[in-house]
Amino acid sequence: MEDVPTEPERLRLMAVHAHPDDESSKGAATMARYVDEGVDVLVVTCTGGERGSILNPALKDRPDIEENIAEIRRDEMARARAILGVEQHWLGFVDSGLPEGDPLPPLPEGCFALETVEEGTRRLVAEVRRFRPHVMTTYDENGGYPHPDHIRTHEISVAAFDAAGDPDQFPDEGEPWQPLKLYYDVGFSVERTTALHEAMLKLGLESPFEGWAERRKEWLEKSRPPKITTRVPVGDWFERRDAALLAHATQVDPKGWFFSIPLDMQREIWPTEDFELARSLVDSAIPEDDLFAGIRDLVST
Ligand SMILES: [Zn+2]
Repeated sequence: MEDVPTEPERLRLMAVHAHPDDESSKGAATMARYVDEGVDVLVVTCTGGERGSILNPALKDRPDIEENIAEIRRDEMARARAILGVEQHWLGFVDSGLPEGDPLPPLPEGCFALETVEEGTRRLVAEVRRFRPHVMTTYDENGGYPHPDHIRTHEISVAAFDAAGDPDQFPDEGEPWQPLKLYYDVGFSVERTTALHEAMLKLGLESPFEGWAERRKEWLEKSRPPKITTRVPVGDWFERRDAALLAHATQVDPKGWFFSIPLDMQREIWPTEDFELARSLVDSAIPEDDLFAGIRDLVST
């Protein structure tokens, strides 16, 4: 049995991500909201993002940036985590890069996706046992996006959720701790994309989602559609989300489509970030509007 806490315990949320910038494009407004409400939020970043493409046209073809990309991305991450108000831990793996071409090139030696699931799980279990989250978030089995690091992030997150509370697994990595819920981020569901697309057209704006379903057809056909169980209202935190994403200056185009959707329209049409409850050891009524539903009464805050 756990000791009964003598001091009020704070709720803790751990968000596991593949690269620096993923935390700012998936669930960022949710994290900022929980931080403001007094929840301790920890982002775990599996890789350093060393192989991310430079997507900001103003920073392209700059040898000074390309040569120092690992360090630059650490600085960008430091700014993003300050904006969101989260703590952050690097898991220490090397970005696998997104293989492109036909046939796909082999993954680079020493990258995250070529490390064993067990090694990733071991490092994450150690961090779970140190931070002791009540809730964890990660990607679904399709990675939300077909990047090998995203798939591996999913694999080690699920494995760590299942192993961290088991004293027989990774006995050298700290005292067992069992998180109570595991969620998958649901970013661009068909429902949300369609709703935003129609609202843009109604306002007479050019929609970035024109042809979206067609472009993603192959992906949508082969991957399981996410099952949204939980919609967290976070419209008031959209500015913080966008500011955090813009802090990853090499990785985003500030004039790109992500920032072309008016925030007031987003607040009206889809004021939530959405999640799929993948594992739960507590009772909560679905649909939920809070990642800590069923947990708040158990933790003496
Ligand atoms: Zn990523």
